[in-house]
Amino acid sequence: MWYKNILETIGNTPLVRLNKITRDVSATVLAKVETTNPGNSIKDRMAIKMIEDAERSGALKPGGTIIEGTSGNTGMGLAIAAVIKGYKCIFTTTDKQSKEKTDALRAFGAEVIVCPTNVDPEDPRSYYSVSSRLVRETPNAWKPNQYDNLSNSQAHYEQTGPEIWEQTEGRITHLVVGVGTGGTISGAGKYLKERNPGIQVWGIDTFGSVFKKYKETGIFDKDEIYPYITEGIGEDFLPQNVDFSVIDLFEKVTDKDAALTTREIARKEGIFAGNSAGAAVAGLLQLKDRLKPTDVVVIIFHDHGSRYMGKMYNDDWLRERGFLHDEKLTAKSILAK
Ligand code: PMP
Repeated sequence: MWYKNILETIGNTPLVRLNKITRDVSATVLAKVETTNPGNSIKDRMAIKMIEDAERSGALKPGGTIIEGTSGNTGMGLAIAAVIKGYKCIFTTTDKQSKEKTDALRAFGAEVIVCPTNVDPEDPRSYYSVSSRLVRETPNAWKPNQYDNLSNSQAHYEQTGPEIWEQTEGRITHLVVGVGTGGTISGAGKYLKERNPGIQVWGIDTFGSVFKKYKETGIFDKDEIYPYITEGIGEDFLPQNVDFSVIDLFEKVTDKDAALTTREIARKEGIFAGNSAGAAVAGLLQLKDRLKPTDVVVIIFHDHGSRYMGKMYNDDWLRERGFLHDEKLTAKSILAK
């Protein structure tokens, strides 16, 4: 038995119980580990869905160029699909993203343009503006626009949600998800709530992002926006893929807690996951008193730790940001004395 190509291996990711990191949580906590997708992230699911919907609608034509502003994971999904389906890819990204991520995109033949992080989305230098200009200037170009393209959340409504429902045999009581474009939480959350309206859907947000305040007050507060380190989640605008009616609450996690918890997942559970998995676990730990022993929590682990080798998994990087205080004695530190 074999797959016709690598795209057929997307999805059907494992659900793995967390044992040590969640020691103080009374509920059963399960991680949906999305690292086994071909691009090592959950974003493969929506990338292929956006492409195939665009092929059907005629927006993406044979031999076309896919142009997107992406922090890496969506780019990987698009780049892999483009290799198989014969499209070109140009991605704009920000200088905040790990070099590992942009190098990986180039490995699949994509062109990557790195733009400054700390400019307004409307600024002509922003990665949104640069990708829009390239779309206008490139013949036969298509911009998936992962933020507002509802094929994104639809992919999770059709796949991620049903997988979680089946893998938990309908026992899931809480879904905990880091929110970026909002596709994962809105699509999977909508499906799960249709099966059982009692399921709680908790979004994990960053300090520096607008989601939590908007959910709680209905106010888009520009004062909530400032630079932060956590990758993949939080936004400075409201993407159409965020369906606030599906999300019961948002919890904010600090950059430090997200980074340190990401490392702890590897050390305590043997799962090499990305930064938003750390944020989601840290957020769940903040909310643990709301859970009871019969609850079954599913946390999404969006991507793989290899993309963060120069960041959360690098002691010097952590130290420079003041995130590493309680350093234990190691062979190296003893020899250095
Ligand atoms: N974590 C990581 C690592 C991501 O790349 C993304 C996508 N931006 C998310 C979480 C958030 O997922 P979504 O865009 O579906 O909200």
